[in-house]
Amino acid sequence: MSGKELQKQLTWEFPHIGKEKPQQIEEAAAFCEGYKTFLNRGKTERECVKTAEELLKAAGYQVYDETKTYQPGDKVYQINRGKSLIAATFGKRPVKEGVRINGAHIDSPRLDLKPMPLYEKDEMALFKTHYYGGIRKYQWTAIPLAMHGVVIKADGEAVELNLGENPGDPVFCITDLLPHLAGEQNERKLKDGVQGEELNIVVGSLPFVCEEDIKEAVKLNVLQILHEQYQITEKDFLRAEVEFVPAFKASDAGLDRSMIGAYGQDDRVCAYTALMAEIDEKEPLYTTVTVLTDKEEIGSCGNTGLDSNYVGDFIIWLAQGQGADPKEVFRNSICLSSDVNAAYDPTFHQVYEPRNSSYINKGCVLTKYTGSRGKSGSNDASAELMAKIIGIMDREGVCWQIGELGAVDAGGGGTIAKFVASLNIDVVDLGVPILSMHSPFELASKLDVYHTYKAFRAFCRG
Ligand code: MN
Ligand code: MN
Repeated sequence: MSGKELQKQLTWEFPHIGKEKPQQIEEAAAFCEGYKTFLNRGKTERECVKTAEELLKAAGYQVYDETKTYQPGDKVYQINRGKSLIAATFGKRPVKEGVRINGAHIDSPRLDLKPMPLYEKDEMALFKTHYYGGIRKYQWTAIPLAMHGVVIKADGEAVELNLGENPGDPVFCITDLLPHLAGEQNERKLKDGVQGEELNIVVGSLPFVCEEDIKEAVKLNVLQILHEQYQITEKDFLRAEVEFVPAFKASDAGLDRSMIGAYGQDDRVCAYTALMAEIDEKEPLYTTVTVLTDKEEIGSCGNTGLDSNYVGDFIIWLAQGQGADPKEVFRNSICLSSDVNAAYDPTFHQVYEPRNSSYINKGCVLTKYTGSRGKSGSNDASAELMAKIIGIMDREGVCWQIGELGAVDAGGGGTIAKFVASLNIDVVDLGVPILSMHSPFELASKLDVYHTYKAFRAFCRG
């Protein structure tokens, strides 16, 4: 055997999909048209749930009823408080043999309004914000922002806000200093370049015009407009969840249109691909359970996040529906914690370890462990589970790669995996490599999005 042949036999490298399967470039681009629409329609967890529900209903899904008996191929869904969602397709095998769970999150880093947000200073009206999730604060200034949210009025009526997305809508922004006057600010460390209490959103500059001399007329003018448009008052903000997100739309990126640039791809890219795989699977062997969850970005806490029992409860209902012991169902189940990973960035290569990083265009990334320092806070999937998932993907021709979240001790992070693992379920992270993760405009490769969908299809099937 020649050295070259031996090398081919014994060594391994992940291929660039564009080189290996150029015919898939167009398929991937076509698949991503629906993805861009999903991103534009769902910029908050509530909007994602609504959009997903529409897609599920159109595909024949019914609201889950734990008192009913279901047959293989039946499709159901359940919504948790408007912020997270479970969709399932009943499999041919009984649930006691385990279910196939695919969990992605639909919350993304953003700026929430404080409970008393509106104030006037020096004849300008502004909103105070409290950031949600891990953001680099300086990235959120001087870009157009849109207002999304819900206000529950005293009589219980829910008023939905969505302003800054449609042509002709006004947008909002956070100001930053001009370079000419930023001398002192430039001396700050980058992490303090813009501070939390400086993330104030400009909302108005004209006074309410009247005969009497009133204080804070600019604030009053803003309140008057809000009252006119939404019939809300300042007190109503105390019963509200208002989120400011980048106003721009998902776009093709690059001259070759190989990428998508958009806000919120962490983790709506996995949410969309998981949802499509769930919908497209008509006769799964094992019951599929697709979870679009909330609150991952702040540690999966809260009753709509995965530290809550809502997914476990759903599986218990599935077990009870078939007279199975839920403990047996948990033990035999497999879960993909479907979340993005940090793609190798040639500009900032120092924080990556090139042999163990994920790269755009090499497919979905299977992440054995996340965590920080000595894998702290990680799930660390077993070799047996890695073998199973790799086997499923290889069998179905999915392009996948391995990736750590950056170099050792460069930082770190976590996902929903450890919360699923605590139910005694085998779980591993899998998702799309992303550039500029958590920024207002994240980049993903269309081929990677497409192969993540393919991986989820294979997982549902096998
Ligand atoms: Mn994520
Ligand atoms: Mn994240």
